[in-house]
Amino acid sequence: MKFDTKLLHAGYEPKEHQMCINVPIYPTTAFDFGEVQRGADLFDLKVEGDIYTRLSNPTNNILEKRLAELEGGVGALSFSSGQAATTAAILNITNTGDEVVAASTLYGGTCNLFSSTFKKLGINVKFAKGEEPEDFEREITEKTRCIFIELLSNPALNIIDIEKLAKVAHKHNIPLIVDNTIPSPYLCKPIEWGADIVVHSTTKYISGHGNAMGGAVIDSGNFNWEASGKFPELTTPDESYHGIIYTKEFGKAAYIVKARAQILRDMGSCPSPFNSYLTISGLETLSLRMQRHCESALKIAQWLEQHPAISWVNYPGLKSSKYYELAQKYTPKGCSSIIGFGLKGGAKAGEKFINSLSIPIHTTNIGDTRSIITYPYLTTHRQLSDEQKIACGVTDDFMRFSVGLEDVDDIIEDLDRAIKLSQCV
Ligand SMILES: *Cc1c(COP(=O)(O)O)cnc(C)c1O
Repeated sequence: MKFDTKLLHAGYEPKEHQMCINVPIYPTTAFDFGEVQRGADLFDLKVEGDIYTRLSNPTNNILEKRLAELEGGVGALSFSSGQAATTAAILNITNTGDEVVAASTLYGGTCNLFSSTFKKLGINVKFAKGEEPEDFEREITEKTRCIFIELLSNPALNIIDIEKLAKVAHKHNIPLIVDNTIPSPYLCKPIEWGADIVVHSTTKYISGHGNAMGGAVIDSGNFNWEASGKFPELTTPDESYHGIIYTKEFGKAAYIVKARAQILRDMGSCPSPFNSYLTISGLETLSLRMQRHCESALKIAQWLEQHPAISWVNYPGLKSSKYYELAQKYTPKGCSSIIGFGLKGGAKAGEKFINSLSIPIHTTNIGDTRSIITYPYLTTHRQLSDEQKIACGVTDDFMRFSVGLEDVDDIIEDLDRAIKLSQCV
């Protein structure tokens, strides 16, 4: 199956679900074990089957199979949010005392997770000082267990050369984890470029309609945990599962099986089957939505670039972007729908601009069908000091725009009117 066919059919057989055309929601907490021997085999991970929805559920399983196929992995795991997915992706292969090397440009929630909660757990995240593969390599030590980056990071929209970075990770026998939330597998499949694990906030483009929180981890199956020698939890007996050795028992799927058997079991960050159902419904139109998102975003970015009241525009699809070449390599079909831009006139103009818009919704989400404007300086980042704001790139002119699926001419007209009003204050 090609990508667009997978969006609609991968991982689902109506025959196995009362001939339902739509993926059914299975609102059940537990599953009948049947005979004692089957119950025992389920708990020994000897047979496949559902036990309890915290561990797996048929609706969630279909979403997982579909995402694994779309990203080109051997397996996936769904979560209650993107944050839960990132947490699990890393905790699955780290212990107290271990280190992670991460890009310094990451989603704010991920930065908090890394610099506060992981720190409390004794997992030290070192942020690379630049964006070149060497900047990451410089931070790697004997204790490093993975490299973590975002593609088209939120909100800086930078592109790190995944192919080169994967080579650095593999040279040091550690996996590369890529948060692919903003491109979605429609624009880029990091596994094809050497990434080992892919993370998603499905809350954004995957579900796409702003109605379901969710996250996912996809395992490429390509990382050789045994050869690496740095991950005894995958290659030596797990006492909490009667001495099972994940790499022996599950081969290429060792990482993702362990994540379910240990992290989901113990941390409980499973999604509701209802949210998985919404995510599966939304996912069906991913290609069509992404095409429109990209087309409109490029048109708006080009329009903003020539506007006299706009001092700068950050969109990797613009020829003026320093990431243009890398975007042509990694996201040739388009650069998703987030645009950063600077509005002249400081905070006063910024406030007037936001208050004057009528189509974009003023909030902090992205990847919705509806356009969304965020003014981090006066809202999401307001509690930071001025120095901290500048370090995160949150200047008093910075607007983040998530371009929705409305008629692009309506959006431009609305922006134009609000920009004009903002310049009169
Ligand atoms: C939103 C987001 C997350 C966190 O996802 P939630 O579903 O909000 O928990 C992680 N990474 C990126 C790039 C995001 O945009």
